[in-house]
Amino acid sequence: MDKKEPLTGKTMDELKFLVQSSGMPAFTAKQIAKWLYGKKVDSIDEMTDISIAHRNKLKENYTVGKTAFVKKQVSGDGTVKYLFPVSGNRFIESVFIPDKDRGTLCISSQVGCKLNCLFCKTGKQGFSGQLQASDILNQALSIPESDALTNVVFMGMGEPLDNVDELFKVLDILTSDYGFGWSPKRITVSTAGLIPGLKRFLAERQEHLAISLHSPYHEERLSLMPVEKPYPVTEVLNLIRQYDFSRQRRVSFEYILFSGLNDDLKHAAALARLLKDIPCRINLIRYHPVSGIDLPASDANSLIIFRDYLNSKGIICTIRASKGEDILAACGMLAT
Ligand code: SF4
Repeated sequence: MDKKEPLTGKTMDELKFLVQSSGMPAFTAKQIAKWLYGKKVDSIDEMTDISIAHRNKLKENYTVGKTAFVKKQVSGDGTVKYLFPVSGNRFIESVFIPDKDRGTLCISSQVGCKLNCLFCKTGKQGFSGQLQASDILNQALSIPESDALTNVVFMGMGEPLDNVDELFKVLDILTSDYGFGWSPKRITVSTAGLIPGLKRFLAERQEHLAISLHSPYHEERLSLMPVEKPYPVTEVLNLIRQYDFSRQRRVSFEYILFSGLNDDLKHAAALARLLKDIPCRINLIRYHPVSGIDLPASDANSLIIFRDYLNSKGIICTIRASKGEDILAACGMLAT
C-alpha cells in the first residue's frame, strides 16, 4: 500500500486546508475536486490545469488514491459483486444492481460489523476496522459502471452510523456541487438503529433513511439483533417521530421474513400498530440462507400475504426483488 495520503475522499474544506498549507492558491482546491470527482482521474499528472510545479508538490505527499477491485462476479440476473482491497490486507465487497434505467451501488462502510445480527454473514465475520472516506467513495469511483450510477445505498458490509464522520464526508462529496452534485434523494443510509449516530444523521443530513426492523416485539428483535438491547426500536421510533418524513426525505423499514418466526399476520398487525403514526414504507425481504446460520426462509406466498395485509392497513409495503443470490451478493450475504 502507498504511504502517501489519498486525495479521494477529501471534502472541499479539507482540500482548501491542504492546498493552503502546501503554499498553493485557494482555487487549486476546486481544480483538484473537479479532477477527482468530475473527471474521475487516476493520477495527479492528469490534473492538467494545475501547474507542473504544484502537481509535483502534491505528488510528494498525496496520490489520487483510487484502488482497483481484485475480483468481479456477475450474477445471472445482471448483479455484479466487486471485491476491493483496503489497508491492512483486508477486503470489502460492493454490489452493483442494474435495473432498467437505474444503476444502484450497495456500498460497504466498515470492514465486517460489530453488531452481530443473527441472520447476517457480515455480522458473523466480526469487526476488523472502520473504512476511511477514501475507501468508501472509491467503491463508487472505481467500478466500471461508475458513470451509470443513479443511486447509492449504504447497505453493504457494516453499520454506516457506527462510522459517522467518514460517512458524512462521503455524503457531502456525493451531494455537493464540487463533488457528484447528486440530490440527497438518490442516496439511502441503512441502519440497525444506533441512536447516537442516528441523532446526528437526522439533524445534519437529508438523505433517505432505512431502518432494519425485522420484528415488532422487543424480545424477539433482541434475539435477532443484539443492538435492540442498548437501543430498543421503540426509542428509535420516538426519535424518528421528531422529524418530518412526509416530504423530501423518506424513511423505510426493512423486514426480513423467517418462516414460523416473524411471518404471520399477528406480526403484521403488530407492525402496523407500531408504525401507524409514521409516514413510511415497509420493504419485505426474502431471507437468503447462508451456511452456518440456521434460520428458515419464508416462502413467496407468505411474503405476499404479509404485504397485502399491511397494504390493507394503509401502509405502503413492497417485496424487495432478490438480486445476486447466486453470487452471494444478496442482502445479508456479504462477507470477505
Ligand atoms: S445486518 Fe447490518 S448491522 Fe447487522 S450485522 Fe449485518 S452488516 Fe451489521
